[in-house]
Amino acid sequence: MKILSVNCGSSSVKYSLFEMKNEKKIAWGVVECIGLREACYVKQTINSKETKNSLRIANHTEALKLIIESLLDKENGSISDISEICVVGHRIVHGGNKFSKAVLVTEKMKRELKECFALAPLHNPAHYAGIIAVEKMLPKIPSVLVFDTAFHQTIPDYAYMYAIPYEYYKKDHIRKYGFHGSSHKYVSQIAATMLGKSLNKLKLIIAHLGNGSSITAVKKGKVIDTSMGFTPLQGVVMGTRCGDIDPAIICYILNKYPQQYKDANSLSSLMNNESGLLGVSGVSSDVRTILKMIRMGNKRSKLAFEMLCYSVKKYIGSYHGILNGIDGLIFTAGIGENSPIVRKLICKNLHALGIEIDTNKNNTYSNEQKFISTPESRVKVMVIPTNEELMIAREAKICFQSAH
Ligand code: ADP
Repeated sequence: MKILSVNCGSSSVKYSLFEMKNEKKIAWGVVECIGLREACYVKQTINSKETKNSLRIANHTEALKLIIESLLDKENGSISDISEICVVGHRIVHGGNKFSKAVLVTEKMKRELKECFALAPLHNPAHYAGIIAVEKMLPKIPSVLVFDTAFHQTIPDYAYMYAIPYEYYKKDHIRKYGFHGSSHKYVSQIAATMLGKSLNKLKLIIAHLGNGSSITAVKKGKVIDTSMGFTPLQGVVMGTRCGDIDPAIICYILNKYPQQYKDANSLSSLMNNESGLLGVSGVSSDVRTILKMIRMGNKRSKLAFEMLCYSVKKYIGSYHGILNGIDGLIFTAGIGENSPIVRKLICKNLHALGIEIDTNKNNTYSNEQKFISTPESRVKVMVIPTNEELMIAREAKICFQSAH
């Protein structure tokens, strides 16, 4: 059984084709800069090396056409007929209050997804374009929507409500939703295997640290709280997002600079695209560049970096309290998996919480899951490479099988 995982961004399409018998990824790639002159297609298969081609790609339909053609390619393709793809799983960032679990695509589901556009204006319309493109290209193959928000559905009301007038919750469904659900779910399952215990018996904190970052408290396999909120803007300091700030700052800026910030979009861009590591350092949103700048003595980069680590540490402390102690702390995603210095700074002086990391284990590079805590550490600290694409394929498989 082969399943294609598709992740359509506003200007990109990422894909992975899995053989679900052994959950092996057999082909993967990305079409980037759709609609721009720099458009390119980077692809790889289990049997062939990565190739990169610059091409004219006007929209998501053309991108998916290219992807399907390359999967069918006689020389380097991975399938000989389109019918070998059993299901397509689409990553959907925001399911709002409409979707609490993965669903098969139907006309009704498409209408409901459209109602969630305003909640994720950059992501959901792009996902929708991808769904339509897949329908055109693969009309006989069922599609499943897999939501980043679904894993967080177990958060209790006192944690997901905002203390603003209740009518905004009733009328506009303003509440915490949480994101990176596929990643948090995947790594919590791997952590349970690593710890040799059932998820039902574990209390975990997961730090998904990438360009976008979220921290999640998981008890008995269920999310209790997560740092992102109504949108992915809330929470820790991120690459270009500000994370938690006093909301009054926005009113203040709006009043003080009416010429510069005329509408919600310009303020949204300030908080989503111009803040975080980039905004504070004035240099970059990328931790690798920030670290290089720190080595060169750049003070604002050092400040931005310290702010990021401090904000993650605060969430760990807070969730440790909420969970009344934890069994495991997990680092995942681009920064969490690859930056020993971030992990070191976050875990520094957390002995009181039973968190102690082993410097050697932390510094030893590996692209495999590993423990980095000392033998004495009460909390097992783990680095687990995330695999959102596989989680999407797994959810698509379960949803498809339960519908047939
Ligand atoms: P996204 O949220 O876009 O999926 P990723 O999970 O791919 O992001 O993480 C991207 C981030 O990972 C980059 O911005 C970069 O800062 C960080 N990163 C990747 N490799 C390293 C590394 N070796 N050291 C430090 N940071 C890294």
